[in-house]
Formats: sequence, C-alpha cells, structure tokens
Amino acid sequence: MNYFVGIDIGSTAIKAALVDQNARLVGVHVSDSGSLFHKNAREALRVLLERSGVRREQVGYLIATGYGRKLFKEADDSISEITANAIGAHEAGKAHGGVRTIINIGGQDSKAIQIDDAGGVTNFAMNDKCAAGTGRFLDVAARNLDVDLEELGDYHFNGRGAPLTINSTCTVFAESEIIGLLANSHGKEEIIAGIHYSIARRTVRLAKRVGIEDRVYFDGGPALNKGLVAAIQDELQRELVVPEHPQTTTAFGAAILARQEFLAERAAA
Ligand code: ADP
Repeated sequence: MNYFVGIDIGSTAIKAALVDQNARLVGVHVSDSGSLFHKNAREALRVLLERSGVRREQVGYLIATGYGRKLFKEADDSISEITANAIGAHEAGKAHGGVRTIINIGGQDSKAIQIDDAGGVTNFAMNDKCAAGTGRFLDVAARNLDVDLEELGDYHFNGRGAPLTINSTCTVFAESEIIGLLANSHGKEEIIAGIHYSIARRTVRLAKRVGIEDRVYFDGGPALNKGLVAAIQDELQRELVVPEHPQTTTAFGAAILARQEFLAERAAA
C-alpha cells in the first residue's frame, strides 16, 4: 500500500497529513513551527508516520506547502498554501454539499479564497500586513487575559453582558486597550467576545472582497475556537462549514495532490 503526505509549514504551526491510495485521511499531526523549521518539519513527519504505523519507504509522494515550504528539501514538490487550501477544502467540503468560499485564519495572516465546483481557485484576498484579525491577535489577547487559548471559546459564551467593543485596529494598541478594560473591572468574558467580534468584522470585510458564496468553509487553527466561529457566523449572517480538523485542511490538500501527482507520473511511465 502506498501513502501520500502533505506537510504545511506555517508561520506558527507545522501540520502534516497522511492519506492512503484511496485518498482516505489516515492521520494528522500538529506541532509548533519554532525557529528551526526544517528540523521541526522532519520531526513532525517522523511522528506522523510512527503514529500511523507507516514506514518512510511506503510514502509514494510528499508535497510541502505553507510559509516555510521551500526549506523542506525532502519534498517531491511544493505548492502554494492557497492552492493546497482550495484542494483540501473542496475535498473535505464534499460531505457538506460542496463549498465555494474559504475563510482561513492562520497564525500571522488571514485569507479569503473563492473556488469553483472543481476546487480551482477563482479569486483570493489576503491580509498578511497586520496581525489584528489573525491567530497572533488571539495568542496575545489570551496571554494578557491569563486564559488558555483553548478556553477562549468557553469564555465567549459565558458572558452576562454584551460583548465589549475593541476599537484598536493594531495588535499592540489592542493589547493596551485590553489591559485598560481589565483595569476598569470589565469581565474577561465580555472582553473576549469583543475580541472575537473585532476579528470577525475584519474577516468578513476580507471575504467580501472576493465575494461570499455558499457554502462558506472556515479553517486554520483559530477555527478551533467555537466563540470565534459564532462571531463570524453572526457577522456573516450565515452558517459556516467547520471541518473536523480545521487546522490541517491545507496539509490534507497537499496530501491529496501528492496522491494525484504520484498516480499521474505512474500512468505516464
Ligand atoms: P499557520 O499556518 O500560520 O502556522 P495555523 O492555521 O496553524 O497558522 O493557526 C495557528 C493559530 O491557531 C495560533 O496562532 C492560535 O491562535 C490558533 N490555535 C491553535 N490551536 C488552537 C486551539 N486549540 N484553540 C484555539 N485556537 C487555536
């Protein structure tokens, strides 16, 4: 049996996905990118294969994607994260009746991608200039509020008052604003809901630049945050499709493409 790997070397996390000959997802692994991208990507691959009970020789093709993809020399090929995200969302979205718009929030950027019925990219917009509206904003806010990242979603739903408005459009100023709100005895719940709505409004503005068509798929690490999902749904006024493994969709897309390239090369041989 041959297996195929997609490895997404992101600014914040390395995501690896393994699919089998039938394009079935066999395993995923997420670890920190750290500062040694190449070494950490190799380790992520080793762990993914070990946990899945697959030997390196059984991997027929490996495609790297993401911010650090060029650093992973062992890859058979590399593709942009936009293409990989589109392929992964198209495949995972089939179970939901198909998706046409992708919202991806990563550690340091956010994207909106429009895809056609075959998963091809027809339009995209990206914010990679400003940390507000990205996972980094949530990481900084969680630290200021002394809350675990995984708890942000619970706080969002537990507030008794209305979400507060966060006016600062820059992460550094937002940090001071959050500290100011805490000093004025505002609850963490209302502050966190306010942060989620602030990110949601930026995200919806970005998505409107590419055009929003149903169904809308939300992925990237911050899609694990149920409070943020709810805030974006509110601002969009429609349901989002959030996959089972939102952080690994792009790696999954690269693995799907690795399988296709392997099969095409074999057919041509
Ligand atoms: P990148 O591809 O740029 O490395 P990711 O899509 O991996 O980015 O997302 C990283 C971000 O995901 C982190 O900055 C963090 O804010 C968020 N994140 C990761 N795990 C969780 C979690 N369990 N709950 C909420 N947010 C999370």
